Amino acid sequence: MPDPIISVVIPLYNEAEAIDELYRQLTEALEAYGAPYEVIVADDGSADGSFEKLKAIHERDPRWRIIRFRRNFGQTAGFAAGFHRARGDVVITIDADLQNDPADIPKLMAKIEEGYDIVSGWRVDRQDTFLTRKLPSMMANWLISRTTNVTLHDYGCSLKAYRADVVKNIHLYGELHRFIPAVASAYGVRVAEVPVNHRPREHGQSKYGISRTFRVLLDLITVYFLLGYSTRPIHVFGGVGMVSFSLGVLIGLYLTLVKFGFGQDIGTRPMLLLSVLLILLGVQMIAMGLLGELIIRTYYESTGKAIYYVREELS
Ligand code: UDP
Ligand code: MG
Repeated sequence: MPDPIISVVIPLYNEAEAIDELYRQLTEALEAYGAPYEVIVADDGSADGSFEKLKAIHERDPRWRIIRFRRNFGQTAGFAAGFHRARGDVVITIDADLQNDPADIPKLMAKIEEGYDIVSGWRVDRQDTFLTRKLPSMMANWLISRTTNVTLHDYGCSLKAYRADVVKNIHLYGELHRFIPAVASAYGVRVAEVPVNHRPREHGQSKYGISRTFRVLLDLITVYFLLGYSTRPIHVFGGVGMVSFSLGVLIGLYLTLVKFGFGQDIGTRPMLLLSVLLILLGVQMIAMGLLGELIIRTYYESTGKAIYYVREELS
């Protein structure tokens, strides 16, 4: 078998009914494209016979590599396992439920060949319910684009293509797979978007409910912090701390004047409480920023990680 150029990574959880069709459509699209490929499926603890089906496919077609998780670890873990094992120059991610259309893969590849590092699918005509899926996702896309400076219409589309070095260099935690382009922007990436086909789910059911919206918001805070401040936490905590501390001191000075200048009682004034609170909060925030600074030093120095990424170097 020649070394693969394309590695397709598929997280899969209880999708037994879709697997044969997935195999057929992917094989057709990839063989038509012509480049040597491998497909890496992360079976995320399925309990519906998915693994047996995948095993049968692997036995007929060794281009299909199967990772079976011990239990359900979530879609992000599936991506991470696939990224780690991918041998191709380009990594393509796709859902197992066939809502994405493998026939769009050549479109993504064309953009990669133009020199982009990440090509994201954009489900222009998304086949999901409006209120529970499309609306939250529209708001999330707007918010994520605004806060991370990687503007995409459709962060949630799983059909994406990446240059391998991009996915090999990012570490995913929790449910951060939705933020890969944003996380990767720390690495310095050129991102393009192409409209892709989207189909209703034919088999099985979605693994997510509306609660995902809140998790996405929390994750956004993490990503925003990591992108902007992970090498300088004192700037975010210290900034807030200094504002709070200064305000507290100003109010305190004013109260001192009232007490000693005008001889009024200040013991019962709510402003006194506010002043003390702001000063304490300020000191704590600055201390937290300093702790952050210590932690990131331990992180970068113990892992030998550089605080920059190089695209090329002439020397
Ligand atoms: N998935 C997974 N582990 C999970 C949940 C989902 O591997 O814990 C897979 C699932 O099999 C599918 C993809 O992730 O291939 C996307 O899931 P789903 O279609 O349920 O999400 P939606 O399209 O509704 O956003
Ligand atoms: Mg789906």
